Amino acid sequence: MLGFLKEQRRRRLRQQPVPEEWRAIISRNLPFFDRLSAADQQELLGHVQIFLEEKRFEGCRGLRLTDNIRITIATQACVLLLHRKTDYFPRLLTILVYPSGFVVDEERHVEGEIWEAGEESRLGETGREMGSMVLAWDAVKSGADDPSDGTNLIVHEFAHQLDFEDFAADGAPTLSSRGERLSWFEVMKMEFAALRAAEETGIPTLLDPYGASNPAEFFAVAVETR
Ligand SMILES: [Zn+2]
Repeated sequence: MLGFLKEQRRRRLRQQPVPEEWRAIISRNLPFFDRLSAADQQELLGHVQIFLEEKRFEGCRGLRLTDNIRITIATQACVLLLHRKTDYFPRLLTILVYPSGFVVDEERHVEGEIWEAGEESRLGETGREMGSMVLAWDAVKSGADDPSDGTNLIVHEFAHQLDFEDFAADGAPTLSSRGERLSWFEVMKMEFAALRAAEETGIPTLLDPYGASNPAEFFAVAVETR
Protein backbone atom coordinates (compact mmCIF):
# COMPACT_ATOMS: atom_id res chain seq x y z
CA MET A 1 0.00 0.00 0.00
CA LEU A 2 2.77 2.39 0.95
CA GLY A 3 4.56 1.54 -2.27
CA PHE A 4 1.39 2.24 -4.23
CA LEU A 5 0.95 5.67 -2.61
CA LYS A 6 4.59 6.50 -3.19
CA GLU A 7 4.29 5.57 -6.85
CA GLN A 8 1.12 7.63 -7.22
CA ARG A 9 2.79 10.67 -5.64
CA ARG A 10 5.81 10.25 -7.89
CA ARG A 11 3.64 9.97 -10.98
CA ARG A 12 1.97 13.25 -10.05
CA LEU A 13 5.31 14.97 -9.51
CA ARG A 14 6.68 13.65 -12.80
CA GLN A 15 3.76 15.18 -14.67
CA GLN A 16 4.04 18.63 -13.12
CA PRO A 17 5.11 21.34 -15.55
CA VAL A 18 8.76 22.28 -15.11
CA PRO A 19 9.37 25.97 -14.35
CA GLU A 20 11.06 27.83 -17.22
CA GLU A 21 13.84 29.01 -14.87
CA TRP A 22 14.83 25.40 -14.25
CA ARG A 23 15.35 24.78 -17.94
CA ALA A 24 17.42 27.95 -18.15
CA ILE A 25 19.64 26.81 -15.27
CA ILE A 26 20.08 23.35 -16.79
CA SER A 27 20.92 24.68 -20.26
CA ARG A 28 23.42 27.14 -18.79
CA ASN A 29 25.21 24.74 -16.42
CA LEU A 30 24.88 21.35 -18.10
CA PRO A 31 25.88 21.37 -21.78
CA PHE A 32 24.89 17.70 -22.28
CA PHE A 33 21.20 18.43 -21.69
CA ASP A 34 20.53 20.13 -25.02
CA ARG A 35 22.03 17.14 -26.82
CA LEU A 36 19.52 14.68 -25.33
CA SER A 37 16.42 13.67 -27.29
CA ALA A 38 13.16 15.39 -26.35
CA ALA A 39 11.93 12.14 -24.75
CA ASP A 40 15.08 11.80 -22.62
CA GLN A 41 14.89 15.46 -21.59
CA GLN A 42 11.33 14.93 -20.45
CA GLU A 43 12.14 11.74 -18.57
CA LEU A 44 15.11 13.43 -16.90
CA LEU A 45 13.09 16.48 -15.84
CA GLY A 46 10.45 14.17 -14.35
CA HIS A 47 13.13 12.43 -12.28
CA VAL A 48 14.52 15.80 -11.18
CA GLN A 49 11.11 16.88 -9.84
CA ILE A 50 10.92 13.75 -7.69
CA PHE A 51 14.54 13.99 -6.56
CA LEU A 52 14.11 17.60 -5.43
CA GLU A 53 10.95 16.74 -3.53
CA GLU A 54 12.40 13.69 -1.76
CA LYS A 55 15.97 14.70 -0.91
CA ARG A 56 16.90 17.25 1.70
CA PHE A 57 19.63 19.78 0.84
CA GLU A 58 21.69 21.66 3.42
CA GLY A 59 24.18 24.44 2.79
CA CYS A 60 27.32 24.20 4.95
CA ARG A 61 30.04 26.65 5.95
CA GLY A 62 27.87 29.63 5.05
CA LEU A 63 26.80 28.39 1.61
CA ARG A 64 23.34 29.73 0.77
CA LEU A 65 21.41 27.12 -1.18
CA THR A 66 19.78 28.28 -4.39
CA ASP A 67 17.77 26.64 -7.17
CA ASN A 68 20.93 26.91 -9.26
CA ILE A 69 22.77 24.59 -6.84
CA ARG A 70 19.92 22.18 -6.19
CA ILE A 71 18.99 21.76 -9.86
CA THR A 72 22.58 21.41 -11.08
CA ILE A 73 23.15 18.59 -8.58
CA ALA A 74 19.78 16.88 -9.08
CA THR A 75 19.92 16.88 -12.88
CA GLN A 76 23.34 15.25 -13.06
CA ALA A 77 22.42 12.68 -10.42
CA CYS A 78 19.23 11.75 -12.25
CA VAL A 79 21.04 11.03 -15.52
CA LEU A 80 22.02 7.75 -13.83
CA LEU A 81 18.32 6.87 -13.48
CA LEU A 82 17.35 7.17 -17.15
CA HIS A 83 15.79 4.21 -18.97
CA ARG A 84 15.33 1.92 -16.01
CA LYS A 85 13.07 1.20 -13.08
CA THR A 86 14.31 3.20 -10.11
CA ASP A 87 13.64 3.93 -6.47
CA TYR A 88 15.58 7.23 -6.56
CA PHE A 89 18.72 6.44 -4.53
CA PRO A 90 16.65 5.10 -1.61
CA ARG A 91 19.50 5.04 0.91
CA LEU A 92 20.27 8.73 0.46
CA LEU A 93 18.28 11.26 2.47
CA THR A 94 20.39 14.40 2.78
CA ILE A 95 22.86 16.23 0.56
CA LEU A 96 25.25 18.59 2.33
CA VAL A 97 26.86 21.20 0.10
CA TYR A 98 30.07 23.06 1.01
CA PRO A 99 31.34 26.02 -1.02
CA SER A 100 34.59 24.13 -1.74
CA GLY A 101 36.68 21.21 -0.44
CA PHE A 102 36.11 20.12 3.14
CA VAL A 103 38.25 18.36 5.72
CA VAL A 104 37.38 15.05 7.38
CA ASP A 105 39.02 13.17 10.23
CA GLU A 106 40.32 9.95 8.85
CA GLU A 107 42.16 6.91 10.13
CA ARG A 108 44.69 5.72 7.61
CA HIS A 109 46.08 2.20 7.47
CA VAL A 110 49.89 2.29 7.58
CA GLU A 111 50.80 -1.40 7.83
CA GLY A 112 49.90 -4.47 9.88
CA GLU A 113 48.07 -3.28 13.00
CA ILE A 114 49.24 0.30 12.60
CA TRP A 115 46.74 3.05 11.79
CA GLU A 116 47.34 6.77 11.92
CA ALA A 117 44.75 9.44 12.61
CA GLY A 118 44.78 12.61 10.58
CA GLU A 119 42.85 15.10 8.55
CA GLU A 120 42.16 14.65 4.90
CA SER A 121 40.60 17.09 2.47
CA ARG A 122 37.82 15.90 0.22
CA LEU A 123 35.60 17.15 -2.60
CA GLY A 124 32.84 14.61 -2.10
CA GLU A 125 31.90 11.76 0.17
CA THR A 126 29.10 9.31 0.68
CA GLY A 127 28.89 6.01 2.53
CA ARG A 128 26.70 2.94 2.75
CA GLU A 129 25.51 3.73 6.26
CA MET A 130 25.70 7.54 6.08
CA GLY A 131 22.26 8.32 4.62
CA SER A 132 23.92 11.47 3.32
CA MET A 133 26.33 12.81 0.74
CA VAL A 134 28.76 15.69 1.12
CA LEU A 135 29.73 17.73 -1.94
CA ALA A 136 32.00 20.68 -2.71
CA TRP A 137 30.02 23.07 -4.91
CA ASP A 138 33.05 24.36 -6.85
CA ALA A 139 33.96 20.77 -7.78
CA VAL A 140 30.34 20.07 -8.82
CA LYS A 141 30.53 23.05 -11.17
CA SER A 142 33.88 22.20 -12.70
CA GLY A 143 32.83 18.54 -13.12
CA ALA A 144 29.86 19.64 -15.20
CA ASP A 145 31.83 21.98 -17.49
CA ASP A 146 33.28 19.30 -19.78
CA PRO A 147 31.18 16.13 -19.99
CA SER A 148 33.90 14.25 -21.87
CA ASP A 149 36.87 14.75 -19.54
CA GLY A 150 36.04 11.72 -17.36
CA THR A 151 35.79 13.85 -14.22
CA ASN A 152 32.41 14.36 -12.67
CA LEU A 153 32.03 14.46 -8.90
CA ILE A 154 28.25 14.04 -8.94
CA VAL A 155 28.32 11.03 -11.26
CA HIS A 156 31.07 9.46 -9.12
CA GLU A 157 29.30 9.91 -5.77
CA PHE A 158 25.87 8.89 -7.09
CA ALA A 159 27.39 5.81 -8.73
CA HIS A 160 28.37 4.81 -5.17
CA GLN A 161 24.71 5.22 -4.20
CA LEU A 162 23.66 2.89 -7.05
CA ASP A 163 26.22 0.39 -5.74
CA PHE A 164 24.74 0.65 -2.20
CA GLU A 165 21.17 -0.08 -3.34
CA ASP A 166 21.64 -3.83 -2.80
CA PHE A 167 23.23 -3.10 0.63
CA ALA A 168 26.73 -4.08 -0.46
CA ALA A 169 29.54 -1.75 -1.53
CA ASP A 170 30.93 -4.33 -3.94
CA GLY A 171 31.11 -2.48 -7.25
CA ALA A 172 27.84 -3.89 -8.59
CA PRO A 173 24.53 -2.05 -8.88
CA THR A 174 21.26 -3.96 -8.45
CA LEU A 175 21.08 -6.46 -11.30
CA SER A 176 18.02 -8.40 -12.33
CA SER A 177 19.27 -11.98 -12.35
CA ARG A 178 21.96 -14.25 -10.95
CA GLY A 179 23.30 -14.70 -14.48
CA GLU A 180 23.74 -10.93 -14.89
CA ARG A 181 25.55 -10.75 -11.56
CA LEU A 182 27.87 -13.57 -12.51
CA SER A 183 28.87 -12.03 -15.81
CA TRP A 184 29.16 -8.59 -14.17
CA PHE A 185 31.65 -9.88 -11.61
CA GLU A 186 33.55 -11.89 -14.18
CA VAL A 187 34.16 -8.83 -16.36
CA MET A 188 34.78 -6.53 -13.40
CA LYS A 189 37.32 -8.87 -11.83
CA MET A 190 39.31 -8.94 -15.04
CA GLU A 191 39.18 -5.19 -15.66
CA PHE A 192 39.90 -4.38 -12.02
CA ALA A 193 42.98 -6.61 -12.08
CA ALA A 194 44.12 -4.95 -15.34
CA LEU A 195 43.76 -1.46 -13.82
CA ARG A 196 45.66 -2.57 -10.70
CA ALA A 197 48.47 -3.99 -12.80
CA ALA A 198 48.63 -0.82 -14.93
CA GLU A 199 48.70 1.33 -11.81
CA GLU A 200 51.56 -0.65 -10.31
CA THR A 201 53.64 -0.45 -13.47
CA GLY A 202 52.73 3.17 -14.27
CA ILE A 203 51.06 2.43 -17.63
CA PRO A 204 48.60 5.22 -18.55
CA THR A 205 44.95 4.14 -18.49
CA LEU A 206 41.62 5.57 -19.59
CA LEU A 207 40.19 4.98 -16.11
CA ASP A 208 41.60 7.09 -13.28
CA PRO A 209 44.04 4.84 -11.35
CA TYR A 210 42.09 5.78 -8.21
CA GLY A 211 39.66 3.11 -9.41
CA ALA A 212 42.29 0.52 -8.51
CA SER A 213 41.71 1.25 -4.77
CA ASN A 214 38.86 -1.29 -4.44
CA PRO A 215 35.86 -2.64 -6.43
CA ALA A 216 33.52 0.12 -5.15
CA GLU A 217 35.86 2.87 -6.38
CA PHE A 218 36.43 0.94 -9.61
CA PHE A 219 32.69 1.06 -10.32
CA ALA A 220 32.38 4.77 -9.45
CA VAL A 221 35.38 5.70 -11.59
CA ALA A 222 34.14 3.59 -14.52
CA VAL A 223 30.71 5.26 -14.42
CA GLU A 224 32.35 8.68 -14.15
CA THR A 225 34.42 7.94 -17.28
CA ARG A 226 31.33 6.88 -19.27
ZN1 LIG B 1 34.56 7.19 -4.54
